Amino acid sequence: MAELVQRYLDQILAEHADDTGGALADYIPELTRVDPDGFGLSLSLADGYVYESRDTALEFTIQSVSKPFTYALALDRLGFDAVDAKIGVEPSGEAFNEISVDETTKAPKNPMINAGAIAAVSLVPGTSADERFDQIRDFYSACAGRELTVDDDIYPSEKATGSRNRAIAYMLQSFGVLDGDPDEILDVYFRQCSIKVTTTDLAQMAATLARGGIDPVWGRRVAAAAVVQRTLSVMVTCGMYDAAGDWVSAVGMPAKSGVGGGIAAVLPAQLGIGVYSPLLDDKGNSVRGVKVCRDLSAGLGLHFLSVTREARSTIRDAYDAAAGVRIYELHGDLLFAGAEQVLRTVDEECDGFDVAILELSRVDDVNDAARRMLAGMHESLTAAGKEGYVVDPDGTLAATDAAQARVFGTLDGALRAAQSFQRTSSGG
Ligand code: GLU
Repeated sequence: MAELVQRYLDQILAEHADDTGGALADYIPELTRVDPDGFGLSLSLADGYVYESRDTALEFTIQSVSKPFTYALALDRLGFDAVDAKIGVEPSGEAFNEISVDETTKAPKNPMINAGAIAAVSLVPGTSADERFDQIRDFYSACAGRELTVDDDIYPSEKATGSRNRAIAYMLQSFGVLDGDPDEILDVYFRQCSIKVTTTDLAQMAATLARGGIDPVWGRRVAAAAVVQRTLSVMVTCGMYDAAGDWVSAVGMPAKSGVGGGIAAVLPAQLGIGVYSPLLDDKGNSVRGVKVCRDLSAGLGLHFLSVTREARSTIRDAYDAAAGVRIYELHGDLLFAGAEQVLRTVDEECDGFDVAILELSRVDDVNDAARRMLAGMHESLTAAGKEGYVVDPDGTLAATDAAQARVFGTLDGALRAAQSFQRTSSGG
């Protein structure tokens, strides 16, 4: 069956294989020597299964696709306050290598432009360039699921020609944004850009973000979920150079591209995409890479803002199991909107029962907001002289606030408790 998807991916690449539009990055000679025909696509599903089409073993330099990952690492190791004090989250509307900062804060506008990326490198803890770089490389490797290395031709060339980045780093130092030696920080940044990856590495790294910070190869948590949420947010607004608006409209996935020709795109909770083709458009994005992502998004319905249908009702069924005992069978994921519907319905019907029982055996997941709301419902029912029970055979609620509510493993258990409550409250 997997060939169905495989064939589909192969076909999309075949459709764009002859497109020779765009040009190789030429700010360093090494990048003009790559094969312009290189073309690959990898798709990593949330369970770690990877589809590969064409040149997926071909290594290229990660370049700016590195930026969200170093930002995530800095956030994870240092916390939001320390990072936010030095790097903003607003789209800049300027070229990625603009020598500029926010006029008021003097901080780089976001971590996806070079100024913000260099500041992010300076925030990665370490007492030497090597120590800092090792942290970065280890983090990328953990996300990719294999040990990544630096391209020994590109790195010295980046370093030799990096005057503009040097100007940025010294400017940041003059504004007090960079702690540490600008040249040492730049050395780490040049090495970071020169890390070699394949499309499969990018797909795995993207899938790590798609899974909220858990790598798809070993299943280990590499970054906190809140860090991933922030990183993806910045990728949405600033990830595709000056084409972020076009990209979000047409593709609709948080993504980052680099002048090496790679793009990593993330569909939260579903998959990570890595695509490569080194011919770039005038914004610096891979021409064929963008086209492939557009096709995938349209063909497979991957736009993260597509509203496919109205949210179905969280209450699957509601009935009286006995006089004064009302059962609410819930299903799906219980998030704010679903929990709100449950609370409102229970409240409206509350005159007709002594005990409300929420049956959760078909509920897949409950978020913190919904948990707190269920706990609140229990309190209000108790205050009104009634009871609210939860039947949760799979432990979906976990032992949190909702443990204040009475949780039962079976419906029978809840019904027996309801009977004895009714007996007690009627004085029987
Ligand atoms: N090494 C490049 C630079 O910092 C990366 C640029 C990019 O991929 O956007 O200028």
